[in-house]
Amino acid sequence: PTTPLETPLLRAIRDIHARFTPLHDGEVASYIPELGKADPDHFGIAVATTDGHVYEAGDTTVPFTIQSVSKAIVYALALDMLGSDKVEAAIGVEPSGEAFNSIRLKADNRPFNAMVNAGAICCSGLLAETAGDEAFELIRSTLSRFAGRELEVDDAVFQSERQTGDRNRAIAYLLRTYGGVRGDVDHVLDTYFRQCSVLVTARDLAVMGASFANHGVNPVTGETVASNYAVARTLAVMISSGMYDFAGEWIYRVGVPAKSGVGGGILAALPSQLGLGIFSPRLDAHGNSVRGLRTCAALSDAFDLHMLSRR
Ligand code: GLN
Repeated sequence: PTTPLETPLLRAIRDIHARFTPLHDGEVASYIPELGKADPDHFGIAVATTDGHVYEAGDTTVPFTIQSVSKAIVYALALDMLGSDKVEAAIGVEPSGEAFNSIRLKADNRPFNAMVNAGAICCSGLLAETAGDEAFELIRSTLSRFAGRELEVDDAVFQSERQTGDRNRAIAYLLRTYGGVRGDVDHVLDTYFRQCSVLVTARDLAVMGASFANHGVNPVTGETVASNYAVARTLAVMISSGMYDFAGEWIYRVGVPAKSGVGGGILAALPSQLGLGIFSPRLDAHGNSVRGLRTCAALSDAFDLHMLSRR
């Protein structure tokens, strides 16, 4: 599909890009040392519609690591590959109300949901248990099919994360005491750290979002990348937990299922309409991109994207 030269949507994202470019609030994540090297000024906005058009403004081809945005796609993959019974028995679907890296589990010792670290490590562990050494390649190829192009790992970020990932290691060992992680903890964590270190662009996140919005069919490639069941359940968990302990505010104000990552990415998906991909590395205290939040809120206002106000 060709991108129309000038449409209201393209004009709007160019305006919003210009409006928020001077916004320098927030800090680049540095608890993973390699992430601290990101250029804080990068700012890209991409919108992909379910009919396969992509609109872009700013730094939409600059690569950055997907981080927690991967959790949504890996959850959908696990639901499809392992079956919902198995995945839903291991991982809850309740918001935690806590930070993404909280070590606290539900009263029944399951992770709260798959959008926070504990649930995502459990999810990658389930895939690792079934697919063994092939687990990461399965994840990488699924992320690639959602994006519509082959994605690669940033090895420096992977090594950096692995070297400094003691908190995630603690979560994985805690999970193993309850059977939420089985087998080799290092293998599970390597799978998880690698999935977080996959390089994407804002455009990729928009196309991934559009694949969710299009009920599991990538609208650019036409390929089926997930079942409608997995898509709907993943979007449901994104609504309640995709923006961590800001999820309530987000769904109230913006009203579009979304997932953020500490690399500065946000993916949002409005069913049957469009996917949004934003990249801007300065984060607020919740770990969400500051310009990303403002951009999604402005787009939601401008185009009445709130899913509960659509007629
Ligand atoms: N890899 C990061 C971590 O586990 C992902 C966190 C995030 O993006 N919120 O800490």
